[in-house]
Amino acid sequence: MTTIKLPDGREIKYELTRKRVKNVNMRIKADGTVYVSANTRVSIKRIEEILTERADYILNAVKHLQEREQRSEITAQSMRWLGKEYPVRIIRNFSERVALEENELRVFTAHPEEAQQKLSEWAVTNFSALVEELNAEVRTMLISCNFKPPATRISIKDMKTRWGSCSYTRGHISINLRLMAYPRETVLSVLWHEYAHYWHHDHSERFYAFLCEHYPEYHRWNSLLR
Ligand SMILES: [Zn+2]
Repeated sequence: MTTIKLPDGREIKYELTRKRVKNVNMRIKADGTVYVSANTRVSIKRIEEILTERADYILNAVKHLQEREQRSEITAQSMRWLGKEYPVRIIRNFSERVALEENELRVFTAHPEEAQQKLSEWAVTNFSALVEELNAEVRTMLISCNFKPPATRISIKDMKTRWGSCSYTRGHISINLRLMAYPRETVLSVLWHEYAHYWHHDHSERFYAFLCEHYPEYHRWNSLLR
């Protein structure tokens, strides 16, 4: 870490990494440090000149990030998402959004009292998108093995007693929203399980043989649910 003293007494702290980048890149962090990457042909003198030229911009950005940090709080609650536990941070902000950033679930909002609601909406939207993606994966795989899966409607539901269900006569699969706490592969195992019921209505040996043939890691990932 190096400190540049500006003529007016202000300071810029920076950390330099030599990388094969085209020019000089900067990234400003909330701790007030400027992370600079530059290739070996750019001299320290030149880097410090650039930082000095951009001092107003840099120090403003640092101030902005520090203020944002002060306006934010880590909540007591955390959330399990796809097999990992994330702390939840609420950041007061004019525009509303939720994002998984720097290993935190961040709720940017002007209405912190609604943060929980916004987080739930984010989870439902993103979990639904994931299930849709996995559904396409399962169907493609089945078709490539010459099994034609029936047209299927997928619902995401908060269920108390089951991870999934399949109404094979109606072409309807339900997936438990609570699976969002588990790894992607575990969600996939539940989807495979429900699809397998189209061909085997019970939990017979043939059912599991079908399952393991198409998803060999079925037991490994599904056993996390016990
Ligand atoms: Zn079953």
